Amino acid sequence: MVKALVATARTQGFRDNDYHWCVEGELVWIAPPCRADRHDPDGACGCGRGFAGLSSHRATTTAVVRTLDGISRQDFVMVLDASLTEQGYGSLDAEGLADHLLDLVADLPDGTVVEHRLDYVHVRQGVP
Ligand SMILES: [Zn+2]
Repeated sequence: MVKALVATARTQGFRDNDYHWCVEGELVWIAPPCRADRHDPDGACGCGRGFAGLSSHRATTTAVVRTLDGISRQDFVMVLDASLTEQGYGSLDAEGLADHLLDLVADLPDGTVVEHRLDYVHVRQGVP
């Protein structure tokens, strides 16, 4: 099993510029930011603060740590690789990216809600 990030509506509205267009509970990854948001997590595009849904190809600013029983690291790599290819990111190293995503949350307990700010993923504070 792996512990990974999935989309959640929890804590939406904590920041004024939150958004949640993903399907609740779908796996997410962190896409490279575009020019508009490269240096600004509160940029006009929103990708600098977003997690991207592997299934919906939409995005959310909130994700939650979840242990996924029955999904191996290799399964996770395959799902990520397939989604990256569908979205035109086929040249990215899915295996390295998968390990990076899994490392990000390895030490966080299930149910921890996190946000993304450019190069960082933070635990959201001050929320139930
Ligand atoms: Zn963008």
